[in-house]
Amino acid sequence: MNYVSTRGQAPVLGFSGVLLAGLADDGGLYVPEAFPTFSAAEFRAMRGLPYAEVAARVIQPFTGADLPFETLRALCQDAYAGFGHPAVAPMVQLGTDLWTMELFHGPTLAFKDMAMQLLGRLFDHFLSQRDERVTIVGATSGDTGSAAIEACANRARVDIVILHPHGRTSEVQRRQMTTVCARNVANIAVEGTFDDCQDLVKAMFADAPFRRDMRLSAVNSINWARVAAQVPYYVYAALALGAPEREVAFAVPTGNFGNVLAAWVAGRMGLPVAKLVVGSNRNDILSRFLDANDMTIQGVEPSLSPSMDIQVSSNFERLLFEILDRDPAATAATMAGFRATGRMAVPDAAWRRARQVFTGFRLDDAATLAAIRDLQAATGYLADPHSAIGIAAGRAHPAAAGVPMVAMATAHPAKFPDAMEKATGARPPLPLRLADLYERSETYTRAPNDLAAVEAEVRATVLRNAA
Ligand SMILES: *Cc1c(COP(=O)(O)O)cnc(C)c1O
Repeated sequence: MNYVSTRGQAPVLGFSGVLLAGLADDGGLYVPEAFPTFSAAEFRAMRGLPYAEVAARVIQPFTGADLPFETLRALCQDAYAGFGHPAVAPMVQLGTDLWTMELFHGPTLAFKDMAMQLLGRLFDHFLSQRDERVTIVGATSGDTGSAAIEACANRARVDIVILHPHGRTSEVQRRQMTTVCARNVANIAVEGTFDDCQDLVKAMFADAPFRRDMRLSAVNSINWARVAAQVPYYVYAALALGAPEREVAFAVPTGNFGNVLAAWVAGRMGLPVAKLVVGSNRNDILSRFLDANDMTIQGVEPSLSPSMDIQVSSNFERLLFEILDRDPAATAATMAGFRATGRMAVPDAAWRRARQVFTGFRLDDAATLAAIRDLQAATGYLADPHSAIGIAAGRAHPAAAGVPMVAMATAHPAKFPDAMEKATGARPPLPLRLADLYERSETYTRAPNDLAAVEAEVRATVLRNAA
């Protein structure tokens, strides 16, 4: 399988190249040269299989010749063995035609684990094949850091250093990062804001000698392998509800557009996806685009669903490339215009193409709290603020009578105890396997908001593990 950049000026790469590169050299995003498809018979043959087996079969066309199927299957089995539910991504029925699929049974209780657990293993596999090591650095305000740390802890070929703003993450989020006890993991609490942390990471990447010596790498949400690893659960859900003979619709609480893009990819692979509802909070740039072909950048405002607080959705460029008929020059020009003016509108035909599948939906904080309360009253089900937006989105925009709607639940309610208490009056307990999180000992170093100090910490981690 070959991958091309959405902007057309970067080298064509295979799966392992794309995995290790992340972003393309020309600033674009890698996408498959052509989408693989499954026949109805191939989909039917996946029905009833364990999650890891479905994952291996769905991901296999994307890894292609770079990875023998047996190896991929073993990596998938290992990646999902540690999940807290035997079905890995179980579904719960909430209405006649409404289900929710729980993507939060991984080690950090949020959906990022679904892809990251496999990505850490894929990195290790390809790096040991090349006899290389990398150092992953990243900044986090909460969720992505812990998912990356859990994915990389104890991997042989990877060191990981995550910066978080000291005193500015929630206690659950900080403890999920700082209580992971592994030699190759380092947490740095930076005396500054999340933006300072991001600037420090950018500065480390811009420091060419440092970047080369430390072999810096990232596992951000634009990595194609992450999108590929998110496709299987859409197949798994649809098969359970009657696909390929029956259409299915999905509602997805969305931030960087990676999760819902994977649902769209499943459709391109032949899954009968009738509709995709994109759920936003008050930071609703995507629903504004889908409603009115107007993508205008506004400031980010904090909400009760922080993992969806985005200014621009980084994965949207992949959809843009498709609705512009895979024209890299048009994609590059549109992105350049967007960067320069803060506004994007696409030709009417392209916008209509997006609207054929995608529908926007937005819910503010007050309505999100009401949705959590109403759902609990009607069904007894407790959804976190992100998942509640997804479920409300699915309810608001059903595809058609008899077409099941599956709303993706992206976080466990115990990750957002303050919001849950506001909505329901109670703080949900952590699952048993994490119940002692508040007693575990934490390891992190504190650093000033200073490039040299942070680089020294990264260097120390790398040297410790090279020894
Ligand atoms: C990351 C995240 C999202 C947004 O997913 P995208 O792929 O960025 O659209 C939604 N909910 C939770 C809990 C998340 O962690």
